[in-house]
Amino acid sequence: MIVLMGLPGSGKGTQGKMLADELDMHLVSTGHLVRLYVTGERRQRMLAGELLDDQEMIDMLEKLLATIDDNKEIILDGFPRTVMQAEWLMEQVKKGRFQLSHVIHLKASEDVVRERLGLRGRLDDKQEVIEERFREYQRLTAPVVDWFKTHGAPLVEVDAERTTTEINDDLHRLLKI
Ligand code: ADP
Repeated sequence: MIVLMGLPGSGKGTQGKMLADELDMHLVSTGHLVRLYVTGERRQRMLAGELLDDQEMIDMLEKLLATIDDNKEIILDGFPRTVMQAEWLMEQVKKGRFQLSHVIHLKASEDVVRERLGLRGRLDDKQEVIEERFREYQRLTAPVVDWFKTHGAPLVEVDAERTTTEINDDLHRLLKI
């Protein structure tokens, strides 16, 4: 399993899709899952930039993983986003359910990704919602990077302020190691 982390707009979705196509891997995006399945009050919360409940995300992911044949590598985009989700993931690794080969942190500043998200134009890419997603990221997801560092995860940082092609080349180099 390869985990992609980074701010909204850091390129997790784009890079994940490229890698999955190029290397014939599964791509699991919890953001996609949420946009597909979540309705009502929880969808409103998502559209306001808030994270959804940990256990709910884990249950959703569990269901999807159960349908995937496990002889191919999985790229995980958008999970874990909290320390609790990271703890769950590492527990699965310890149980031997997955092998975690790389945690890739796509590093970019808020200024750079703010501009990209403005161009993307998803419903949760409105200025005030973007700011809320940044706050959620700093409050809940940034600590996951440090948590991974102190828990022996194979974490690497990649400069995600460059072009899509440059980042993609770098990821290919990394994944060969
Ligand atoms: P982004 O571009 O912000 O990385 P995503 O498409 O990955 O966006 O996720 C969109 C929204 O889905 C998030 O803002 C959040 O509300 C919800 N979401 C996705 N993954 C998770 C998760 N692991 N835990 C909680 N909420 C999640």
